[in-house]
Order: sequence, then C-alpha cells, then structure tokens
Amino acid sequence: MTGNADIGLIGLAVMGENLVLNMESRGFTVAVFNRTTAKVDAFVNGRGKGKKFIGCDSIQDFVKSLKKPRKIMMMIHAGSPVDAVIQELLPLIEKGDIIIDGGNSLYTDSDRRVKELEKKGILFVGTGVSGGEEGALKGPSIMPGGNPAAWNSIKPILQAISAKVQPGDQPCCDWVGDGGAGHYVKMVHNGIEYGDMQLISEAYFIMKHYLGLNNQELKDVFAQWNKSELDSYLIEITSDIFGKKDEHGEYVIDEILDSAGQKGTGKWTAMNALDMGIPATLIGESVFARCLSSLKDERVKAAKILPGPNASESSKHFQGDKKQFIEYVKNALFASKLVSYAQGFTMMRHAAKEYGWKLNYGSIALLWRGGCIIRSTFLGKIKEAFDKNPNLENLLSDSWFVDQLKVAQTGWRQVASASLLHGIPTPAFTSALSYYDGYRCPTLSANLIQAQRDYFGGHTYEKLGGKKGEFFHTNWTGRG
Ligand code: NAP
Repeated sequence: MTGNADIGLIGLAVMGENLVLNMESRGFTVAVFNRTTAKVDAFVNGRGKGKKFIGCDSIQDFVKSLKKPRKIMMMIHAGSPVDAVIQELLPLIEKGDIIIDGGNSLYTDSDRRVKELEKKGILFVGTGVSGGEEGALKGPSIMPGGNPAAWNSIKPILQAISAKVQPGDQPCCDWVGDGGAGHYVKMVHNGIEYGDMQLISEAYFIMKHYLGLNNQELKDVFAQWNKSELDSYLIEITSDIFGKKDEHGEYVIDEILDSAGQKGTGKWTAMNALDMGIPATLIGESVFARCLSSLKDERVKAAKILPGPNASESSKHFQGDKKQFIEYVKNALFASKLVSYAQGFTMMRHAAKEYGWKLNYGSIALLWRGGCIIRSTFLGKIKEAFDKNPNLENLLSDSWFVDQLKVAQTGWRQVASASLLHGIPTPAFTSALSYYDGYRCPTLSANLIQAQRDYFGGHTYEKLGGKKGEFFHTNWTGRG
C-alpha cells in the first residue's frame, strides 16, 4: 500500500519539527512520526495545524503513508537509536527505498550503515545538517553523502529546503560523496566551528582584560568587524550577545559561568586528525580549551597558588593606542581563522585519499556559505582558491591567503606576545601562530628528536640530502 506523502520524518524534537515545517512550506506533503507518539498529536494539532502533514501513531502507518520509492528521514539522537529505528523499518520497507539520517552521527557509523543496507537493496544517506533550529526552519546547510543512487530522488527536496546564496540562489546542499563522506564533512564543519568560537572568545578576553573594553564597546567592535573580512554569523551573534541585558538591567554575558560544554563532534574531529597524523592543532586546542574551562573549581584554587601575571589586571600594563591594538586583535583573529580553515580542508583532503572519496572542496566551501553556524563571506574566498587550483595542497599557499597573512601577521604576533607576557590565555591564537611558523620553516628541530629516538631505541634516522628510505644508526655511547 502507498500513501501520498513525498517524504516522512521520524523524530519530532527541535530539529525535526523545524525541518518538516520547512519542507511543508516548500510544497511537500510530509508524514511525521515520533517514538513518543503524544508529540505527533501535539505537533499536528499545534505548529502543524492546517498544514500538509500526515501525523502517524505507529511506524507501520507512517511507512504506509509514503509515496514509493519511500524517503524516510531520521532526526533523532545519534548512535544506537539510529540502528534501532533502522531495524524497526527494515521489515516494513522494500528495495529502492531511501533512509536518510540527518542527525550528528559518527561518519564511520554512516559508512557501515551504507554498506549493510546496500546488501538489502536499501539506499542509505548520512547527511550533515547545520544551522541549529532557526536554520532547520528557514534553510540549513545540508551535506549529504552515502549511497549515490539515492541522490536524484532526494535532491529536489533537500535542495529546496536548504539555504541559498547569491549569485543565482545557489543551494547550500549538494552531494558530498560516498559512504560516510557527508557526516565526515559535517564533523569537520563542527570542528572548525569549535575553532571559530574559541578564537572569538580569545579576542573578547584580551580586549576586555588588556584593553579594558566594556560590554558596549565590545558590542560595537564586533559589529564593526562584521562589516569587514570577518563578516560572519558567529561575529554577528557575538555583537548581539554583548548588548543583551536581563530584567534587572545586568549584562547576561557577565552572569554566565565560564565553563564550556561540548557534545563530542569537536572531539571526534581532533581524534580523527590524530589518527590520520594531520596537524589540526587549532581544532584540538579548542577542544582542550573547553576541557580546561570546565575545571572551574581547580582553576579557582590554582589561581591562589600558581605564580604569574594576573590576566584580569593586565590593563594596568597597556600603553599605546587602543584603536591600533583592536586592529591587531582583529588581525590575530583573522590570521588564526585562515590557519584553522586550512587545517580543516587539509583533513578532508587526507580523508578523501584514505576513504576513496571524490570530494569537491570548492563545493564544500559553498555548502557552508549559507545556513550553517560557520557561514561567512570568507568561505567564498576558499571556493575561489579551489576553483583556481582543485588540487591545492594547503589553502595557506593560495595567493589570496598569502596576501592576507602578509597584512595580518604583525598584529597577530603583537597580540600573541602581549597575551603570553601578561598571563592572558589565548591558546588558539598562539598555537595557530606556532603552526604557521612551523609550516613555513624549512628546517625544524626534529633532527634532535630523531637522534634521541636512535640513541635510546635504535630507531634509525634518514640523512639530510640523503636518499629517501635510506636509514642510518649511530652508536651514540661507543659501547658495543
Ligand atoms: P535530540 O534531543 O538530539 O533527539 C531527540 C529525538 O530523538 C526525539 O524525537 C526522541 O524521541 C528521539 N529518540 C531518542 N532516542 C530514540 C530511540 N531510541 N528511538 C527512537 N527515537 C529516539 O533532538 P534534536 O536536538 O532535534 O537533534 C536531532 C538530531 O540532529 C541529533 O542527532 C542532533 O545531534 C542533530 N543536530 C542537532 C542540532 C541542534 O542544533 N539541536 C543541529 C544539527 C544537528 P522521543 O520524543 O520519543 O524521546
């Protein structure tokens, strides 16, 4: 039996509800189901009232309500719930039907699901969806990957509901690649998001403590920056945040505990970078910075015993032109951001090689141009860089990046030195700068590491100017 729903969605939480409202608003008839069925009734009689929704009280009725080939999207907790729902669906669906997982699933799980379901003739798609609840409603960035045979059937729906960017209303949704590629790209997106947020918070911290800016001044600085090359969603909301007062007229930002939460996608990105041996230092540092922030009680105790300059009193030491230093902070933020994106795209290049994906990096930059949390005008420059050279080894070598770094690096170094000197923690600014200097350094200190490894473990070493693959051992102690 078939119904007339164009697509069905399981999981009526924040994201699912908003996505189906978005789909319906583009003219699609949508069947909806949720494990706790009371939520289906509440939705159909509430936000969904009078709209083209088919509310289903059982998964059997839900499947029956769909046009063939069935398109079933899940927006539920990642992990075992996704496998459990797939198992429930399998006896009810048939070859050629499509299951789309839009949650934040680990890409290796999506890779496994594509393979397992392909054996049963079911087309599985793991798609990243970014933009939070507002994005889901108005147009998110969508990063689908998995079984490519599914793409033609789901493309009209996913592209219709996605964000659009100019010129030409280009959808922020396109096929990313086979297997777990969609969720991999979403994972790197989230890692970069961690980096962007950490960098912005370091810019805030140094301007608050070293320059002594108040919330209104910070609001104005971020609003100004949002009209520059830093123009982005995260800078825009940061400006809004500094202006927000509670019912007692107090700034909300000053009432929030300085301990950052995380759900795990940043950690996955850092772990994957370590697995592949790719120096995604900025993402790693941003995850660790959140971990350090969460040790609030320990930090309060350590503040009383560990010697060093006090960040919150550093404004006493500031001498010079505040306006100029704000420009330096902007330089530090922008240059570190360039490093962060270069590292993220390097990860994707290596993953593509490892998993055999044909990733189009320019198109990925375009997917992130609108709808998602890291949306920014700067992503257009990344697209241009890959359009010029699709095989670009590292974004930092693109001529536009080189020009930006020429301008930004003086300020970047000023900010890094001031923060180190005055005890202001800026792990992402400083590690991005260390990566930058390491990457452009033709001779590093690793010769000594190789010597030490050979000394204590006989691990051998290659010689400068020697043949690749020719290894030497030295008897360092002269003993036999
Ligand atoms: P959520 O809180 O992550 O998940 C709640 C939904 O999952 C509910 O519909 C719940 O059903 C269902 N669920 C949980 N365990 C289940 C199980 N064992 N079997 C069937 N259903 C189960 O909701 P969300 O925040 O809307 O996010 C949905 C997905 O999108 C997640 O994977 C999330 O990581 C991802 N995502 C979220 C955002 C965001 O900004 N929130 C952005 C992008 C992606 P019940 O009502 O029955 O409990």
